[in-house]
Amino acid sequence: MKKILEVKNLTKTFQVNGGFLKKGKNLTAVDNVSFELMEGETLCLVGESGCGKSTLGRSILQIIKPTSGEVLFDGVDLCKLDEKKVRPYRKNLQMIFQDPYASLNPRMTIRELIGAPVRAFKLAASAEEFDKKIREVCSVVGISEDWLDKYPHEFSGGQRQRIVIARALILNPKFIVCDEPVSALDVSIRSQVLNLMKDLQAQFRFSYLFVSHDLSVVNYIGDRIAVMYLGEFVELADKRELFRNPLHPYTQALLSAIPVADVTYKRERNYLEGEVPSPVDPPSGCKFRTRCKYAADICRQQKPQFVMVSEEHYAACHMQHCV
Ligand code: SF4
Repeated sequence: MKKILEVKNLTKTFQVNGGFLKKGKNLTAVDNVSFELMEGETLCLVGESGCGKSTLGRSILQIIKPTSGEVLFDGVDLCKLDEKKVRPYRKNLQMIFQDPYASLNPRMTIRELIGAPVRAFKLAASAEEFDKKIREVCSVVGISEDWLDKYPHEFSGGQRQRIVIARALILNPKFIVCDEPVSALDVSIRSQVLNLMKDLQAQFRFSYLFVSHDLSVVNYIGDRIAVMYLGEFVELADKRELFRNPLHPYTQALLSAIPVADVTYKRERNYLEGEVPSPVDPPSGCKFRTRCKYAADICRQQKPQFVMVSEEHYAACHMQHCV
């Protein structure tokens, strides 16, 4: 498989300017993250709210400029390019947002919304060609041509997310960041949208970085899963391996919290204790140590390295009984 994206030591730090956080401090939202993504692959990012998943996706797309590190796409480091030079790459780098209503301008028709990227990149020489491109993407995504002269408020959440997907696909991208794309949808509609996303990926071979806090969703759509805690990757593995053999205590706790429909099913719960520490002032050593039942002195003194523990299974933990 061809490598499509390489992220090396990516870090995004924000300067705190007041509010309930101390002014003048730094908030590290993404901390030294590295990974590779292959053509046609889906890498899922999971973790609690505020762990840096969305910031990582936006930093890769250069929607927010990373503080340091590299994002290599087609061998070019996007972090070194200014907005004007990044623009040609944006055809291949798309994003699907969580709230399909907020991401569609309510004053534009569906035709205008889906066609906006074609106009922005001047990819249609005539009105006929513009319409042809829209009709093609609509048939791929399952949008009726009757929808095209209507407005976003006339559609349900699932239909609006189809429109957002059509807009992302019309430029034939190679890489799509999906930021909680189904979490705002009814459960009954989620599987339809997830199936659509999977089918489209099988057809067009693009790669997803799929951000979600829902482990059942990532288990369905992902190939590999990366677990994030306070801006860092703490575990990364093939999804079957991760669900079968979670190594990091944080991953173990997340997996044990997945609800099971069978009320007679008994299992040992591995509850997380305490609150997520402030990212402005994270714990020394292992950032997870304040909530980890295995924490020892070394965890306070030394930061665990993110290392390969078994084949393509990475984790960051000092303790042998965890890793
Ligand atoms: Fe827990 Fe220590 Fe492992 Fe961190 S390094 S997860 S505190 S055992």
